[in-house]
Amino acid sequence: MSSNRRPPGAPASTGGQYAPTTRKEPVLDLDNPPPLDHVLKPNMIYMGHQTFHCAKSSCAGSSALHTGVDINGYQLTPIIKEDVEEWETYGLGPLKCECGQLTAAVRQGRLVILGGS
Ligand SMILES: [Zn+2]
Repeated sequence: MSSNRRPPGAPASTGGQYAPTTRKEPVLDLDNPPPLDHVLKPNMIYMGHQTFHCAKSSCAGSSALHTGVDINGYQLTPIIKEDVEEWETYGLGPLKCECGQLTAAVRQGRLVILGGS
């Protein structure tokens, strides 16, 4: 038995970090951590393990709203322009979050989030 909650497919040598390895991680400012009571910001799409979520409990999951970690143990990170550009090469249509409220696009070389309030 192992107490390691590492999800299938996660790299083994990341020291417990479940972030994707295909792109650089955002730099965390440890002196100014995000407020724990609401980690995910509205009107932003976050990437988990090959899934995209907005900051709604019905989309990211209520625990992810507060911890920034989804139910599979993956850190949710804000998407970046390169994620959208990569997604567009798949030919799957616009990059939307799971609930469909928000859509990410690249306009004039910049990441924009559409559909927020
Ligand atoms: Zn959503």
